Amino acid sequence: MTIETILPMPDIFSAKRILCIQPHYDDNDIGAAGILTQLAKNGAEIFYLTVTNDLMGVVDSSLSDEDAAKTLKRDQFAAAKIVDVKDQYWLGYPDAGEYDYFDVRRDLLKYIRMIKPDFVFTCDPWLTYEGHRDHIQTGLATSEAVMYAGLTKIASSDPEVDSAYEGHKINGIAFYFTREPNIIADISSTWEDKIGALRCYEAQFTPEDMEQLLVAMDAKSQQVAVGQLFSRCEPFKVLHTSALHVGI
Ligand SMILES: [Zn+2]
Repeated sequence: MTIETILPMPDIFSAKRILCIQPHYDDNDIGAAGILTQLAKNGAEIFYLTVTNDLMGVVDSSLSDEDAAKTLKRDQFAAAKIVDVKDQYWLGYPDAGEYDYFDVRRDLLKYIRMIKPDFVFTCDPWLTYEGHRDHIQTGLATSEAVMYAGLTKIASSDPEVDSAYEGHKINGIAFYFTREPNIIADISSTWEDKIGALRCYEAQFTPEDMEQLLVAMDAKSQQVAVGQLFSRCEPFKVLHTSALHVGI
């Protein structure tokens, strides 16, 4: 018997209710819009949760925080239409700022217990040389919240959600922005959707920076696909939830 027969890699392509937890407004789409659009077309319900307010990344520094937040949401809703995101949630922690890790974990427990996803997507907090603390905190807090969702002794930020929660099964977690992928997903059929979604993020990129991002995405999507039978892909580290602790 091998470990793979005891803990088989969960099938990302049969996910039906997916919660995607991102540090900033555009991370889910940069990392996973291709496969998420594909899964939505196959009938999956997609939910986005954004941990920080992303205000540090807004290019137009003349905007008030209120107007900057409006432009960020405008862009995010436009992209969400393309990907077919069913619902969105925001925690509003200060972008690149000081906030408590355990507050984030409590909030994520609340949303996981509320939404009851069968698959959770987030950024890989163990990405070598990741320097952005928001990414490390979000990926790690998401991993812990996925592990602890069923342990109601670990409180979320909402006692009402905790007392109403009757448990559910999370089949797996998929990390984007990873250097250790075990799934190379073919996104040839949704590549144009992904590019269309990324182009919506006008508040965070100058036109030149946007073109640079798209050139990089183009090169990366093809580079990772070398040796595959398709030309466009997104890489993911997909793990059974039980594989999130002590490496089993
Ligand atoms: Zn980010």
